[in-house]
Amino acid sequence: MNQQVILEGRYLWRDAAGRVIETPEEMFWRVARAVAAAEARFGADSKTVAAWAERFFALMAALDFLPNSPTLINAGRQGGQLAACFVLPVEDSIEAIFETLKQTALIHKSGGGTGFDFSRLRPKGDPVQSTGGVASGPVSFMRIFNAATEEVKQGGVRRGANMGILRVDHPDIFGFVACKEKEGEMRNFNISVAVTEEFFGAYAADKDFPLRFGGRVYRSVPARELFDYIVAHAHATGEPGLLFLDAVNRANPTPALGRIEATNPCGEQPLLPYESCNLGSVNLAQMVKERSVDWEKLRTVVRDAVRFLDDVVEVNSFPVPAIAAATRRTRKVGLGVMGWADLLFLLRIPYDSEAALQLAAELMGFIRAEARAASRQLASERGTFPAWDKSVYYPDLPLRNATLTTIAPTGSISGIAGVSSGIEPVFALSYTRTVFDRKKLLVVNKPFLAYLAANFPEAQREAILNAVYRNGTLEGVTELPPEDRAIFKTALEIAPEWHLRMQAAFQQATDNAVSKTINLPETATQADVAAIFRAAHALGLKGLTVYRTGSRKDQPLALPANC
Ligand code: ADP
Repeated sequence: MNQQVILEGRYLWRDAAGRVIETPEEMFWRVARAVAAAEARFGADSKTVAAWAERFFALMAALDFLPNSPTLINAGRQGGQLAACFVLPVEDSIEAIFETLKQTALIHKSGGGTGFDFSRLRPKGDPVQSTGGVASGPVSFMRIFNAATEEVKQGGVRRGANMGILRVDHPDIFGFVACKEKEGEMRNFNISVAVTEEFFGAYAADKDFPLRFGGRVYRSVPARELFDYIVAHAHATGEPGLLFLDAVNRANPTPALGRIEATNPCGEQPLLPYESCNLGSVNLAQMVKERSVDWEKLRTVVRDAVRFLDDVVEVNSFPVPAIAAATRRTRKVGLGVMGWADLLFLLRIPYDSEAALQLAAELMGFIRAEARAASRQLASERGTFPAWDKSVYYPDLPLRNATLTTIAPTGSISGIAGVSSGIEPVFALSYTRTVFDRKKLLVVNKPFLAYLAANFPEAQREAILNAVYRNGTLEGVTELPPEDRAIFKTALEIAPEWHLRMQAAFQQATDNAVSKTINLPETATQADVAAIFRAAHALGLKGLTVYRTGSRKDQPLALPANC
């Protein structure tokens, strides 16, 4: 039922009069056939292509795996653009900026999200030679991107999403950190400060930190003052997040092609300029057999999913030639997971436990190993990614894809699958969800319902559910034994440290990055946020988003803005 509402809202194709013209099953066939068509390019005969289409169909129809939304929506369409994640360069000239703006509009129109590092733009007040005037600076140009995004609706339904990044040492960093201070401002951007080891070094030593551009130091500020300024804003509004540039570049698989400076809108996909990446997620709630992980099923799903994602790179129509070239050079894909909290419910493991952290590391390690094995197999059939001989894998590990794993937020596809999103704990055991700004859906966590059905007679079950509907948690529910209450905790009942440690456990075994919100109670202080920033750095995370309850009015679930 919920699945149908979500699919009708944006995924199922419609005729010119706006009538839905396909069923979910037909949608999965459309996607499966369009993606399997790639197999023919590598010499498969029509029977083999059809066999792969059937296999891909089964994978999606069983809800064992779903690709990112653009693939579900656009596959099979002439010129269908299938990737969710893009990074574009922003160079310091009017021509280049507006060229990037145009490319951004094309990507948004196709359903993709864009990320930018604005650090190459000269600071506000710098001279502009050609006009004799002064530059308006990165934040001003971001406003133009924000306004353009407002007007480009994807298929007439939703707006695009952007990630705006500025280096911590850019002279305009204070203005950037404050650019979302007022609610509603820059609402089509998530923002992140790109922090460096140099900055953390200056912070630890309580030193001044130089802000510079074009090789010139503009001024120096106490590192602590800048750090505290970032913390104060993250505490007040949830933004900016942090992007740990050096950690990201330590994991850059192709340093010879350039440094990574930005990510996609939700932060889970660091990319080189012009690269795109298509994502897909394994539904962990379906990878269970007799109260343990069904490793054999997981292996098969992961291997098929990697083939699917590599086929997507093959059949994708890219919005501009530079994106096609950069993407085909590295063939990055991002396989991740959804339904992690549901899996823990089914296995009866509390989210905030060492056992959960251990399973996270083991599970994601398994997925990465199997994904690499599949990519290696593809490399032997189809060749390595073209930049392989310039990559960190050369010469020992021939791979078809420069990256294989990414943990996406799965904001929409987890709704289609009817499971908890990404690796987040459940936001509530029951809640109403607004989809597409209109329909309200009542969602009750399925493993929780199954648990109630297995353990309580109907009358008692109803009493428990009625209590749960009131605030979404087990608060005030006395029927459950304490060991069971510990399992069914929601995001805010889990201490921030556990959120962070869970992110780190998954990051350890993920090529790209991990989408995760560190939820804080309303009472959390700036010092709490500062401690989390420091811990995230010490844990070697690639990025960080915090969200304190009530700090933004318009918060769709516990996900970053826009996504
Ligand atoms: P989905 O569940 O729809 O597949 P996710 O919530 O996992 O998508 O988000 C994955 C990525 O998709 C985001 O990081 C971003 O790059 C892109 N994305 C998400 N929402 C939007 C949006 N409104 N506009 C453009 N891109 C988006």
